[in-house]
Amino acid sequence: MQNQMFSYRGFMLDSVRHFMKPADVRKLIAAARLCGMNVMHWHLTDDQGWRVEIRKYPRLTEIGSVRGRTFFGGVSGTENNSGYYTREDIREIVSFAAENGMEIIPEIELPGHASALLAAYPEAGCRRESELPDAGPWTYAVEVSGGIFPNLICAGKESTLRFMEDILDEVTELFPSRMVHIGGDEALKLHWRRCPDCQKRMREAGLRSEEELQRDLVLRIGAYLAAKGKETIVWNDVLNGGMLPDYFIVQQWMDGEDKIRRFMENGGRVICSETKAYYFDYPYGRIDVRKIWQYPRIPEWAAGYESRLLGIECPLWTERVTNLERAGFLLFPRLAAAGLKAHPGPLSWEDFRESVRETCRQIRDLGLTCAPEEWWDMPADRAEADIRADEDRIYAPEALPYEQKQHRWTVLDREEGRRIREGETKASVLREGDQTLAEICR
Ligand SMILES: [Zn+2]
Repeated sequence: MQNQMFSYRGFMLDSVRHFMKPADVRKLIAAARLCGMNVMHWHLTDDQGWRVEIRKYPRLTEIGSVRGRTFFGGVSGTENNSGYYTREDIREIVSFAAENGMEIIPEIELPGHASALLAAYPEAGCRRESELPDAGPWTYAVEVSGGIFPNLICAGKESTLRFMEDILDEVTELFPSRMVHIGGDEALKLHWRRCPDCQKRMREAGLRSEEELQRDLVLRIGAYLAAKGKETIVWNDVLNGGMLPDYFIVQQWMDGEDKIRRFMENGGRVICSETKAYYFDYPYGRIDVRKIWQYPRIPEWAAGYESRLLGIECPLWTERVTNLERAGFLLFPRLAAAGLKAHPGPLSWEDFRESVRETCRQIRDLGLTCAPEEWWDMPADRAEADIRADEDRIYAPEALPYEQKQHRWTVLDREEGRRIREGETKASVLREGDQTLAEICR
């Protein structure tokens, strides 16, 4: 809304890639409130872990919450890899948040980012139909590296739908929020293309592509949640399978602006999480406080549909955030800057900075880290260096499961110190079933 404060002012905490203890989550909530936020989107499930206790399916946490080591590029180690929130933890955090004027929206990712779920309950995955004589069932594990994996829940089996509904029953009982996030980003449909159940569902429902099958699944889950009085949020990738009804809320993050715009034209509501402005796991070299100040309050794709833009949300993905200190450094004061963007009316850079400075003082009083002022408005050379340092952390070659030397690709098992396969192209060294390597050939 052009002339009103955004009603949705959120930040997202990824508790999967690195686990944060409940007391620290409460601290972040208190600090986010000081920044003017009123929503915490809680990313609780992903390939690398399952962080919420579900009574009916105890293996989700028994198996899915445990990860021995981590291979997130340059951040490789054993700190805060495992853990989960009990129902009691969640009740306490939700009530603490409510007392502080903060709503918590849980996210249960589907159909992708589901490796931890499938490691615990592989029967929720797809059957495998292949001409290859040695093709057994798909195998799953809690993933130890970052990336996009083809481990999707099956969209063709009714039993999988019931399974997800059971999980969502418990999740909606724990979280009183009127909204539930069901993910939907980065779903690689390799298994769906080979699964007789998924293919059968496509034929029966007249679906022309696996993208449409994802939309079909989302519509079914969304209808289930709507019957419970809940609104469903999805990442904007889901629009690749066609338009969604206006009772869905789409979270924009990257690409697909034309589809998002059409969704708004049809009455849909959108949350802006533009990677260029609000992704706070990105280094300050890319997004400093001044860049947030400069970023248009109403992005171009929303022009003319301001009333359908609920607001903004700032995700903190934690592949490279192992502890509270690092989380504080990345979130603050950028979250304070984002909070100011929620208000209508331009502020001068000086007034903006002064307001951020004041919030920083309060955040430091809570015992949290704030990035010092020299990070707020970085000269080009320092910004460049910061971006390079961050890329070194992401792409640390010694942590990747393959290497490339003079047109020769080798897949490595670095733990065992052995070479698995060699070839002349990336694709030639990959085999079906190299799930942790699937991202390499994309
Ligand atoms: Zn399937």
